[in-house]
Amino acid sequence: MTMPYLTVVIPVYNEAGNLYKLYDRLMPVLDGLGKPFEVIFTNDGSKDDSFKILKSFYDQRPTQIRVIDFNGNFGQHMAIMAGFSKMRGEVAITLDADLQNPPEEIPNLLAAFEQGHDYVEGVRQNRQDTSFRRYASRLNNKIRHFLTKVRLEDQGSMLRAYSKRIVELMVQSNEPSTYIPALAYSFSINPISIPVHHSAREVGESKYTLFKLLRLNFDLMTGFSTMPLQIFTMVGMGVSVLSVLLVVVLILRRIFIGPEVEGVFTLFAIMYLLIGILLMGLGIVGEYVGRIYQDVRPRPLYVVRETLE
Ligand code: UDP
Ligand code: MG
Repeated sequence: MTMPYLTVVIPVYNEAGNLYKLYDRLMPVLDGLGKPFEVIFTNDGSKDDSFKILKSFYDQRPTQIRVIDFNGNFGQHMAIMAGFSKMRGEVAITLDADLQNPPEEIPNLLAAFEQGHDYVEGVRQNRQDTSFRRYASRLNNKIRHFLTKVRLEDQGSMLRAYSKRIVELMVQSNEPSTYIPALAYSFSINPISIPVHHSAREVGESKYTLFKLLRLNFDLMTGFSTMPLQIFTMVGMGVSVLSVLLVVVLILRRIFIGPEVEGVFTLFAIMYLLIGILLMGLGIVGEYVGRIYQDVRPRPLYVVRETLE
């Protein structure tokens, strides 16, 4: 059996309405490459018929299609990681199952890879998501730029190509709640961004709630930088210096003018501000402690029920 050159990894969570169309568009593109390939679908605990449909794809092309069936929902990034851990090709391409990433872009990603780039980022042109998502992304890009060394033009784009070396490093990292595009970036030697098309989701809705998006971004910030902790230390130091000044002023005032009786609400304002800062800091520390906790537990990151291959 010849080893595949390209491994396509696709996470699937309740995408029954999109899978046939995806298959019909993806396979001709891959067949047209003229190189051996494999497609690894990970069924991330779908509650609809997704697995049945994937199974039928496997039955049609058992040498080219592999299906990993998770025993529950472990998230998009874990689904991709599971696919990566089984990669046999020289280059991996990830793609969403909802057809927001056109499979027709695969040859363009491969072309960039073949020019010697070990990491190819597909930057979505005129992104077809809600305007809230687009504004949030823009703000988020600025924060990420400031906090981490990760320089992604379009962090949410999953249409990307990775060299085998990068994929191996990512699998070795074995990180819970990780962010694949950023992790890959930190291992890449010669990354490049190329424009790709983006389509609106046709069937079903985004699996990302506001809460899940926030979580993902906390993971990104705390997983790739300790700057939030450092900023918090500096804010703490600043507040301490100001407090000392305030104490000195109040003591002098008491000696020379007399005790202060009013200003209760000023005191409240100051207290609330300090409590707010304190709670935020506690939360930030908690994020890191949570990551450490997840990391030291020897639990598997995902559980596979069955693999068709
Ligand atoms: N997905 C997954 N597990 C999840 C959530 C999503 O495998 O818990 C898959 C989903 O089936 C799709 C891709 O990840 O193939 C992107 O999800 P979605 O389209 O909901 O995200 P968005 O495009 O809104 O960022
Ligand atoms: Mg989508």
